[in-house]
Amino acid sequence: MNNTMTTLTEAAPETRMFEADVARLLHLMVHSVYSDKEIFLRELISNAADACEKLRYEGISHPELLGDDAQPRITLVLDRDARRLTVEDNGIGMSQADLAEALGTIARSGTRAFMERIAQAKEAEGAQLIGQFGIGFYSAFMVADRVEVVSRRAGDGEAAIWSSDGEGTYTIAPVDLDQAPARGTRVTLHLKEDAATYTEDYTIERMVKAQSGHVPVAIFLREKPDAEPRLIGDGTALWTRPKADITAEEYKDFYRTVAGQFDEPALTLHYRAEGLHEYSVLAFVPESKPFDLFDPDRSGRLKLYVRRVFITDEAGILPRYLRFVRGLVDSADLPLNVSREMIQESPLLAAIQKGVTNRVLSELDKLAANDAGAYDKIWDNFGAVLKEGLYEDYTRRETLLGLARFTTSTSDGKRRSLKDYVASLKENQTAIYYATGLDLDRLASSPQLEGFRARGIEVLLLTDQVDSFWVTSGLDFEGKPFKSVTQGAADLDLIPLPDGQAKAADAPEEVGRFIAFVKTTLGEAVSDVRSSDRLTESAVCLVAADHGMDRQLEKLLAGAGRPTVGSKPVLEINPRHALIEALSRLDEADQTLREDAARLLFDEARIADGEVPEDARGFSARLGRLLTRALG
Ligand code: ADP
Ligand code: MG
Repeated sequence: MNNTMTTLTEAAPETRMFEADVARLLHLMVHSVYSDKEIFLRELISNAADACEKLRYEGISHPELLGDDAQPRITLVLDRDARRLTVEDNGIGMSQADLAEALGTIARSGTRAFMERIAQAKEAEGAQLIGQFGIGFYSAFMVADRVEVVSRRAGDGEAAIWSSDGEGTYTIAPVDLDQAPARGTRVTLHLKEDAATYTEDYTIERMVKAQSGHVPVAIFLREKPDAEPRLIGDGTALWTRPKADITAEEYKDFYRTVAGQFDEPALTLHYRAEGLHEYSVLAFVPESKPFDLFDPDRSGRLKLYVRRVFITDEAGILPRYLRFVRGLVDSADLPLNVSREMIQESPLLAAIQKGVTNRVLSELDKLAANDAGAYDKIWDNFGAVLKEGLYEDYTRRETLLGLARFTTSTSDGKRRSLKDYVASLKENQTAIYYATGLDLDRLASSPQLEGFRARGIEVLLLTDQVDSFWVTSGLDFEGKPFKSVTQGAADLDLIPLPDGQAKAADAPEEVGRFIAFVKTTLGEAVSDVRSSDRLTESAVCLVAADHGMDRQLEKLLAGAGRPTVGSKPVLEINPRHALIEALSRLDEADQTLREDAARLLFDEARIADGEVPEDARGFSARLGRLLTRALG
C-alpha cells in the first residue's frame, strides 16, 4: 500500500482494508434485515457522550484542553435535500491514528463477543443479535451507504477524515482545519434512499427522547444546516433527580443506555447515601443474562462518577459475584483529579464498596420477602453467580446463604430456601443433605437418594458447576453442616423409617456373609463394601469413603485435568433387595457364579453413576455366562 502520509495538505486519501472481523460485521450491518434500525442513533450519541465525558475527565488535569468551550455538547444536524444526518460533539476527538485504530479494527470485548456469537449463528439470527448487543459505530451502515468521520483531537493542530461505504475498505486522510470541528468529532451519514425519515426533525426528536434522554450531555438539534440549534435533551443526569419525579419509563431508558441491555430491569436501586460519605447509586439487576456474564475477567460493571464526571468502568465497586448488577455510583467526596489507579487504593472507595454491596444484598433480600416470584426469576438467572460469593466473600456467607434458593428432592420444582429446609428437618436429622450433578433428572433419580426419600428427608439437588466448590468449603447453616448423600455413611439409621420398614441392621445373617464375600472378591477396587440404609429400590450404589472427596467434585476436577488420587469408592449394598437376598442364598461352592455376581454388582453401581464398567471385556464375559445360565 502506498504511503501518502506526506507533508502535502492536499494529500490523496489512503485506502485501507478493514480488519477481517470488521469486514464481516459490516457485511452483516449493510445487509441486515434487523428491523430496529433506529438503534444506530443511540449508538452514535452514546459515542459522542463518551467522548465528552473523556474530555471532561482529561480537562481536570489539563484545563487548557477545554479552552473557552467548556460546555460539553452534542449537535444533530439534518439536511433533507442532501439526505444527510450529522452527529457532532465537542468531546475528546480522534487523531488520524485513533481513527484507524478505533474504526478499522475491533478492540472492544463486547463487539468481539458479538462476533463469536455471530460466527455460530445464521444470518437471520445474526440480525437479532444486533439488537441484543448494540454494537456501536458500525450500526450506522444499516441506514447509510457512506459514512464520513471528521475528527480533531483536543489539543492537536491537525485533523483527519475517515470515510467508508462499508464494503471492505475505508479511506483516511488529513483534512484542513477549517473543514473540521474546532475540537471533537463530526459523523456524517449519507442516508440510504429508504432512510430519508432520519432527516425529519420529529422523527429524530422522538428517537432521542426515547433512546438517549438521559445521557449526561446536552443534545441540540438543527433542523437545517443553517438553522439555529434547539435544545432537545438537557443532559440532566437522571440519578441527580428526586426519585419521585422519575417514571418507570425513564428508568428503563436509562438502564438500557447505561447497561447496554435491551430488556427491562428486574430490580432498580436508586438511593443517596448520606452521612460520613455522600454518594448516589443508580443500579439495576437485568431481567435476562447479559452476554458477558461469564467473561473470563468476571469483573464488576458499576461505573464510577465523581460529581457527574465519569471516571472509570473499572473501579471494582461491586464484588465479582455481583457482576450482573449494572449502573453507576456518583461520589461527592472523591477528589476529581485523582488518577484511576489511585482511586483503587482510596479508603473512600472501600467505604463505597462496602456500602453498595451490602445495600444490593439487602435489596435482594427484601425482594425475596415481598415478591418471591420476582426474586426466583433473578435467582434463576444469577444464582450461579451469587453462589461464587459463598467461597469468595466469607464475611457475607450468612447473608448469601439466606439468599440462596434450591430445587430439592421434595420441592416439586419449586424454589426452597435454607430456612424452609431447616424448618422441615426430620426427627434426629442433624445435617443439610445435598446431591451434586450436572443433570437434574438424573440426580433426582439416583439410587443414593432412595433411603432419604423413604424417610421423607429433603435433599438439595445442586446442578451448578460452582456448587461443588462452596458446598465443600466447610459451611454450615444455623449450625447444620452440609453433607453429601454420596459421601460417608449416611447416618440414616437414627432417623426413623415410616412404620413397618426394616432397617439395615435387621438383615439376615447370610446377607452379611455375602457382603463380606463381595468385599473379598473386589479387593483393591473399592475401599469398602457395606450394607446400606441409603437404598430402598436399587440393589447397590457407590458412595465416597467416609473422609473421601465428594464424588461429583472428584469427577469435576478430573474433567478439568486434575485427577485426584487415592479415593476409592465404597460399594453399598441394599440387604433387603430381592436380588441380594437371592444371591446370598447361592450355593457357596458355586465360586464362578458368586464372583461373577459380585463383579457385576460393582459394574451396575458404576453404570448408575454415569460411568462405564471397569473392565469392559470381563463385564461382557460375565454377563454372557450369567445369561446362558439363566436361559439354560
Ligand atoms: P464502543 O463505543 O463500545 O467502544 P463503538 O463501535 O461505538 O464501540 O466505537 C468504537 C470506538 O470508536 C470508540 O471506543 C471510540 O474510541 C471511537 N469513537 C467512536 N465515536 C467517537 C466519537 N464521537 N468521539 C471519539 N471517539 C469515538
Ligand atoms: Mg459505542
